[in-house]
Amino acid sequence: MTAVWWQGEARFCEGDDQKMGQIKAESMHRQETVLTETVDVQRHGNGLSLEEGKYLIDQLEQQQIPDRERLAALIRANCEELREYARGKARAIADRHYGKNIFIRGLIEFTNYCKNDCYYCGIRRSNTHAERYRLSEEEIMACCREGEKLGFRTFVLQGGEDPYYTDDRIVDLVKRIRAAHPDCAITLSIGEKDRASYERFFAAGADRYLLRHETATDTHYRRLHPSELSLSRRKQCLRDLKEIGYQTGCGFMVGSPYQTAEHLAEDFLFIRELQPEMVGIGPFIPHQDTPFAGEVQGSLELTLYLLSLLRIMQPDLLLPATTALATIHPRGRELGIEAGANVVMPNLSPVGVRDKYSLYDGKVCTGDEAAECRHCLERRVESVGCHIVVDRGDHKC
Ligand code: SAM
Repeated sequence: MTAVWWQGEARFCEGDDQKMGQIKAESMHRQETVLTETVDVQRHGNGLSLEEGKYLIDQLEQQQIPDRERLAALIRANCEELREYARGKARAIADRHYGKNIFIRGLIEFTNYCKNDCYYCGIRRSNTHAERYRLSEEEIMACCREGEKLGFRTFVLQGGEDPYYTDDRIVDLVKRIRAAHPDCAITLSIGEKDRASYERFFAAGADRYLLRHETATDTHYRRLHPSELSLSRRKQCLRDLKEIGYQTGCGFMVGSPYQTAEHLAEDFLFIRELQPEMVGIGPFIPHQDTPFAGEVQGSLELTLYLLSLLRIMQPDLLLPATTALATIHPRGRELGIEAGANVVMPNLSPVGVRDKYSLYDGKVCTGDEAAECRHCLERRVESVGCHIVVDRGDHKC
């Protein structure tokens, strides 16, 4: 039985434990992932020629969105030539829209307590090996002060769904940051809340909200999350955020367990419908203390290809080259920028807690990834012909 530790009282969910055993067993035996499906079309011949692939990318560029089946075929056709074709277009579109500017966000991972139990995530409530921490308001304010000195004009407050951080506490925190840093944008990424809570945070001064939808397919969503979490609620949260007026970000992991090209096509269609200002995608990376420990990591190439296709489909997107991408490849961020990304989010949390915010194994957090290493990051960004700007980096229509 699993104790729900965060409430200070023991609540038990026997059904979940049974389901967990089943997931682990399935995971150990399952070899097939989208990775093996989305290899070179030339080798596997999934019915889409290179020319047809290019034609579909051209259509995407002209804002004629292929239907779900054709989008899935285009995704499955992931190969070097198509990646190259998509990358060229995507980078040119990003340049036209945002120039060579790369926006930076100071990421403050302020709590790793979480009441949720997502099967893929290292800070899920059932992970008893996770060393829990939460930053005080004072510590968060100190991160922001340091961040502003380093040239950050956006602070992203990200955390697990930590019941300690009530709406009142978040409102106070947002107001304090807003008052102390009037020229900076405040982004929240603290999970699913009621609309009224989102409205309060917005009124207090929050500008943006990141909430990945994780997958837009209900059956897939249920394979990644326990039954108390639902895709319909996730989508409702995203719609509420948009309506309230936040610059809103959704997103998904690439190569999450059980993911297929059709699921990814559905993600694209959902993004098309929602019209978010930001989309965060990064490879799924297994965490050793989760039910998905034995699963296969998401692929670098597929992530890059999808970044390019997203940029082509929605030119105005704020599209980060994510930490997960930097984790699976030493030049992950640069490759992401070449593929069409225009945002990077270095870690601004106090050094002592960085490795405790462990969503997946091997997460980079102390090298060039760190906010203090602005100059290393600058050099990396310049190596691919772009430059970091000191700017809030708001969405531009
Ligand atoms: N609690 C907030 C929420 O639900 O949006 C923010 C924190 S949550 C840990 C941030 C994101 O980390 C998730 O949306 C998920 O996509 C990503 N993530 C979690 N585990 C991961 C893994 N094993 N590999 C890659 N990304 C992961």
